[in-house]
Amino acid sequence: MDVTTQTCDVCGREKREVNHWLLAIVKPGFEGILIQPVEAAQPPRAPGFIYEDLCGQACAHTRLSRYLDELNLLFTATQESEKQ
Ligand SMILES: [Zn+2]
Repeated sequence: MDVTTQTCDVCGREKREVNHWLLAIVKPGFEGILIQPVEAAQPPRAPGFIYEDLCGQACAHTRLSRYLDELNLLFTATQESEKQ
């Protein structure tokens, strides 16, 4: 059994018990982010995808905001290049 300590990829908190942890699932080159309960994403994890552990709703919000910020930068960059 895997006994490595799981930590939240946003705030670094250690996972102690199963209490509404979430997963953020992203794939390089895929535009989008999937957030789902840990329980719903049973192993095996799909190869090529990046799974990030989130300790709860607050960190899921933070992770989503981060994603949207990245998206915004991407949109802004696209608009800038279209102007030229
Ligand atoms: Zn967290």
